[in-house]
Amino acid sequence: MAVAADGRLAVSARRVTREFSGREVLSGVELDIRRGEFVALLGRSGSGKSTLLRAMAGLDPETGGRLLVPPGRAVVFQDPRLQPWKRVLENVILGLPRAGARERGRAALAEVGLAGHVRSWPATLSGGEAQRAALARALVREPELLLLDEPFGALDALTRLRMHALLRALCAAHRPAVLLVTHDVDEAILLADRILVLTDGRLGPARTVGLADGRRRTDPAFARLRGDL
Ligand code: ADP
Ligand code: MG
Repeated sequence: MAVAADGRLAVSARRVTREFSGREVLSGVELDIRRGEFVALLGRSGSGKSTLLRAMAGLDPETGGRLLVPPGRAVVFQDPRLQPWKRVLENVILGLPRAGARERGRAALAEVGLAGHVRSWPATLSGGEAQRAALARALVREPELLLLDEPFGALDALTRLRMHALLRALCAAHRPAVLLVTHDVDEAILLADRILVLTDGRLGPARTVGLADGRRRTDPAFARLRGDL
């Protein structure tokens, strides 16, 4: 894996395949994500979304095809995966070079609204706060590519709305390329520049409709009707 060859692209995937025990889950995925672009990935449970995301994270050496991603990647899963025996700040800066790490970690925590939880233990955080800490842990690494695997799936509806607003603000400020895996069509429509659907191991566009601001948005009714979701 290497930096994507084309300077405009954060991700370039060609004929990406993955099988488990002879069963093909990814059957030739083609995907380009531009720098700073926010792509949402929809698809039925078991369609291979997490498999694709793990491949892009570099967590799956069994992936076939050609997959170019930048070295600076950060992943946020549904479960925040904070280490319980480390305080929030230590979790956020885990693995970073020491110099300046604490200051950067504090700044990232302030940015996600957790300035008051620098010294908290993860077990004392709410679900939404823990996921904010996971976002801070990702952002402090200044990723070119942010991979989000159903990051808000375990949160209640109001907390999820707040997280949407936060994620939008963070992406506007930092402009990473984003791949957001989600079940939530409305979330995809709200956040993404482009929406793709993973069906039968391949990516396709969800049908899009033009908006007054020139952006194109998915017609969720169509995607549901088609049985993609
Ligand atoms: P999604 O995230 O879209 O729900 P996944 O990528 O998790 O789907 O899984 C896609 C398919 O691949 C599923 O049928 C799942 O059982 C299978 N799969 C995923 N990971 C493994 C694994 N490590 N071993 C065997 N099968 C797997
Ligand atoms: Mg999944």
